[in-house]
Amino acid sequence: MIEMLEKIRKCSRCVDAGFDAVRPPPVFSGDLDASLLIIGQAPGLTEYKQNSPFIGSSGQRLFSWLQQAGLEESWIRDRALIFQRYLCYPGKRPDDYGDLHPTSEQLELCSPHLSSVLSLMTGLNLKLVIPVGRLAVDAFYAPSKTLDEIIGTQMGYASAQVIPLPHPSGISRWHQKQEHRALIYQALELIRLIDLV
Ligand code: SF4
Repeated sequence: MIEMLEKIRKCSRCVDAGFDAVRPPPVFSGDLDASLLIIGQAPGLTEYKQNSPFIGSSGQRLFSWLQQAGLEESWIRDRALIFQRYLCYPGKRPDDYGDLHPTSEQLELCSPHLSSVLSLMTGLNLKLVIPVGRLAVDAFYAPSKTLDEIIGTQMGYASAQVIPLPHPSGISRWHQKQEHRALIYQALELIRLIDLV
């Protein structure tokens, strides 16, 4: 198990393929025998600099949501695997306005890491997968499905349940709408029902 994560930690596929803006190393934390797998979209600059996932303001909002589902940040950081759909910081946009979005080719290069992790974890203790944000959600649901249709629902995935959440970024407007807050609350109630111990 450790070998798999160590191998991922050393990955430089995107840089080798000429995507020079991408900044390895991959940003994730935790181990493969976790019962909870949280999947973010891609690390931001702060996460890259501190080599730790969900430590910015988006992370604060995510952990405050999950606290409502009975999961404390300290427990999550200690016990869950926090992974990313795209593991390395994708780089700054040339106009300096935010970060680059990984291209489909870049996502294809990185996807095998998530597939390997999922296939190993489902054979161990995995009980709950929480994809956070559209990019992570798209690893499980058809892109034609809107967040309105997906958030607040759950889906079986091998031995685990998948319960998605929207991206908690302050610039995302989706989670700020009243009707969407109700869907997030519904998702958190579903998460609360999963026995992760
Ligand atoms: S983003 Fe994924 S595939 Fe690309 S270098 Fe990082 S770990 Fe490797």
